[in-house]
Amino acid sequence: MQVLTSRRSTVTRSARSVHKPRPGTTNRRARRDNRPVPTTVPTHTSVCIAGGGPAGMVLALLLARQGVDVTVLEAAHDFDRAFRGDTLHPAILELMADLGLADELLRLPHTRATHARFISPGETQVIADFRRLHTRYPYLAVMKQARFLDFLAGHLTRHPNARVLLGARVEGLHEDHGRVTGVRYRHEGELRDLYATLTVGTDGRFSKVRELGGLRLRRHSPGQDVLWFALPRRDGDPGGSIDLHLGGPHCLVTTDHGERWQVGFSIRKGSYREARERGVNPIRDAVRETIPWLADRADLLTEWSQLHLLAVEVARCDRWWRDGLLVIGDAAHPISPIGGMGINMAVQDAVAAANVLTGPLTRGRVTTRDLARVQRTRAWQIAVLQTQQVVEEREVVGIHEHATIHRPIALLNALHRLPWLRDVPGYVTAYGLKPVRLSPELR
Ligand SMILES: Cc1cc2nc3c(=O)[nH]c(=O)nc-3n(C[C@H](O)[C@H](O)[C@H](O)COP(=O)(O)OP(=O)(O)OC[C@H]3O[C@@H](n4cnc5c(N)ncnc54)[C@H](O)[C@@H]3O)c2cc1C
Repeated sequence: MQVLTSRRSTVTRSARSVHKPRPGTTNRRARRDNRPVPTTVPTHTSVCIAGGGPAGMVLALLLARQGVDVTVLEAAHDFDRAFRGDTLHPAILELMADLGLADELLRLPHTRATHARFISPGETQVIADFRRLHTRYPYLAVMKQARFLDFLAGHLTRHPNARVLLGARVEGLHEDHGRVTGVRYRHEGELRDLYATLTVGTDGRFSKVRELGGLRLRRHSPGQDVLWFALPRRDGDPGGSIDLHLGGPHCLVTTDHGERWQVGFSIRKGSYREARERGVNPIRDAVRETIPWLADRADLLTEWSQLHLLAVEVARCDRWWRDGLLVIGDAAHPISPIGGMGINMAVQDAVAAANVLTGPLTRGRVTTRDLARVQRTRAWQIAVLQTQQVVEEREVVGIHEHATIHRPIALLNALHRLPWLRDVPGYVTAYGLKPVRLSPELR
């Protein structure tokens, strides 16, 4: 098998299927620079990244900047999928600043949430306050995930040693004496092969790469699923926070997306069919009862098709790697939407992987010891956060079962009375337990 080393300058991009940035984020500079017109899809690359979500695109960008030859295979034909995580946390914004990209990113349309709150009848409690963090970015930037991914793709494809193939679905792995040596993927109706020094599965919670690699996922029973829908935003609506609204047996979350509200309605795990039989009326009623300022728009929810199910998973792989293969992000550890940590953790996995693997990749050989080091850096944090999520989810399930909602509120009240503890939820939401910073030599 041919093993590619780093700093390979061949440009191998498919003219039809390579990422085409949307207007506003177009890679104009690449065109101005008169780069060679790409003609072929590669058969060899140093790193094959399966899945162009936040984990895959950030890892690709970090490696490409160091001259590593990178190919991202993304199953979808664009990045535009409704109802995905849209929060960019301070850890991500600081990473973008380290790369010199934060100002440009923050010129794209977004809103800012400076705090998160629990709102229940007669009581409002700040859960996490980002304004108290010592950072240039004391807020969550709420930006359409597609916009963020397009932005990353625009910067990634300025590197001649990097490419993103859209509409390229990984369907198989190549192996040689137990070592993963690349993937088989379907692109424009054809099965193709891509051989790589390292294959990285960043293909999300239902990861095909994880399954093909035989990496076992251990599931921890989440208690809820979430139905997402959008309602229009109007002048005068409250803003600046992500709110969890608790009332009766309902739990709803609202995130301000500028022109619309993204609303999550939590249902008991496995009760989707039951909820569907009841239709949208109970959800409209819950909006009216629980979020009075949104009540005037509840009637706009008319069809079940306006709802998008997020089947919540809390799970993680015992082992994130095999010889020649690594999984990170949701592929290694699907996490609950509680705390909105999915993108933050996926991006920090990518930073940890780049910190550890850039050196070995530039030398042309990645060992299982290197891959195990990536997991060691990240897995303990994920395990602690997921355990915390499972505990918090039990409280939400309690709400579905008409149990009291006073317990979480009381806990927060206690936390806020202790000055040295009150900043903990904001810090953990912003950074996780111990943020992974990009190595200075990779900046
Ligand atoms: C409805 C919803 C709301 C959410 N809200 C939030 C939030 O507010 N904040 C937050 O932080 N997180 C949120 N999340 C979670 C967050 O979106 C994920 O944790 C995060 O996107 C994980 O990033 P990733 O790169 O690991 O995987 P993903 O973002 O899932 O990306 C995986 C990519 O792989 C591609 N792919 C899949 N299979 C293949 C294949 N066989 N071959 C090639 N490509 C493939 C997919 O098309 C996708 O683009 C939400 C998730 C959902 C579904």
